[in-house]
Amino acid sequence: MVKEIIVLYPSPGKGHLVSTVELGKTLLGHHHPPPFSVTVILSVPPDEAEFTAAYVSSVSVTHPAISFHHLPVPFVPFDSSSPNKFMSSTFELACRNNPALHALLSSISKSGGSNIRALVLDFFCTAALRVGANLNIPVYYFFTSGASGLAEFLYIPSMHRNIPHSFKDLDPDTLIEIPGTPPVRPMDMPMPIADRSSKVYGYFLEAACDMARAAGLIMNTFDSFEVSALKALRDGLCVTDGPTPPTYCVGPLIVTTGNNNGADDRHECLRWLDSKPSRSVVVLSFGSMGKFSARQLKETALGLERSGVNFLWVVRAPPRNDEAWRAISEPYPSIEVFLPDGFLERTKERGLVVNSWAPQVAVLNHSSVGGFVTHCGWNSVLEAVYAGVPMLAWPLYAEQKLNRNYLVEEVRVALPVKESEDGLVSAGELEERVTALMSSEKGEAMRERVHKMKETAAAALREGGSSHLALAELIQAIKQGPSTEPRRWNP
Ligand code: UDP
Repeated sequence: MVKEIIVLYPSPGKGHLVSTVELGKTLLGHHHPPPFSVTVILSVPPDEAEFTAAYVSSVSVTHPAISFHHLPVPFVPFDSSSPNKFMSSTFELACRNNPALHALLSSISKSGGSNIRALVLDFFCTAALRVGANLNIPVYYFFTSGASGLAEFLYIPSMHRNIPHSFKDLDPDTLIEIPGTPPVRPMDMPMPIADRSSKVYGYFLEAACDMARAAGLIMNTFDSFEVSALKALRDGLCVTDGPTPPTYCVGPLIVTTGNNNGADDRHECLRWLDSKPSRSVVVLSFGSMGKFSARQLKETALGLERSGVNFLWVVRAPPRNDEAWRAISEPYPSIEVFLPDGFLERTKERGLVVNSWAPQVAVLNHSSVGGFVTHCGWNSVLEAVYAGVPMLAWPLYAEQKLNRNYLVEEVRVALPVKESEDGLVSAGELEERVTALMSSEKGEAMRERVHKMKETAAAALREGGSSHLALAELIQAIKQGPSTEPRRWNP
């Protein structure tokens, strides 16, 4: 019998790999027995090798129907000193991987009567669209962010045509209209597309054009969470050069691996949360990469202290180029050295500082948690919504400022944290916002809204829910080959 395969091709980066594998698990879990097997293509830079090896071996045990293939890693200098250079390298890596990818997919297709029914790309791997076209394999994209992010992303070619300057050179008070999303200030556009003369801007522009030619666009979101952005996408307002590919909202995909909620070896922060009253704790966590200057860490600490609110704060040491490091000789000092003198002692009854990493999904679902200060990374946003926790939006990088706009202006489940001109969030600002989040009428109204969202998110995933149906449609489309029929839209 011919073996039907879906090939998933995530870009480097922990978050991209984990979300893509979660999509693979969801695809496999929808039908019994699954009509496809899932193959994940890996191209792993050396600094991610250790994490990837451990992750792959754990998935191989829990989900043996997912197989992994490593591409040889071509030389691409990864410059992590600048997010833009890092992103350029990620696009570049995919370009250089094309010959090896072509060879691998050809050999999979030829071996033992296998048939690759779909190649699902992360947008950083957009160069592989050519490989799919060459081998006659339908190409889908998995956009690891949501519909509002996708609307903005697909609209880049239109903005490129209609706005004569780089976003960085526009009057800061300009409001950029993007279909289905609240108007955006130039400074809230993702940094990599701020300057159209940069190499990375070219890559983004190309990726946006490529995605518009895909057999389908898969998103980690659910219909009722992003109604206006989805309507704009499905009404064809974001892609202006042709039809918009069919869109499939299959989320929220929530990764629970490593979130040891019920196990004996529960993380100490979960045991600490057990001792706190219901909804009394604000959690601060800034994704897999979020780091702050020592100055910002001190301001944050003072703001939390003055707010009087219980807090669980996941803290990382400042970047190595922060001047605070000059006074430190140890390579891995205690995080305490970056906090105000006596802070931990003064707040020990009501605050817990966790170094670097906490099991965030389990934390957000703990009944003692009442608010979440987040960098607005898409997974964190969905995890908060799925747990019914209102947010303070403190975006740091990538498309997070756009996510903040959507959360604050459109769905109103977050309050914004305002930075001063030099980018600092002052202790006073944080104190005020945390207080508003945890104990004000506005905060309560947000809590009610996000609670309703939590219910609709769970309903979307249940049998007959919008995400469950979208997954069935996606599987059907993959089985049949891409359709030219426009997809129905039920708001
Ligand atoms: N995360 C976690 N513990 C931490 C920090 C992050 O479990 O201390 C997880 C979080 O639950 C989310 C992911 O890491 O699933 C971060 O993804 P997100 O899209 O929010 O941000 P990114 O890391 O891509 O900026």
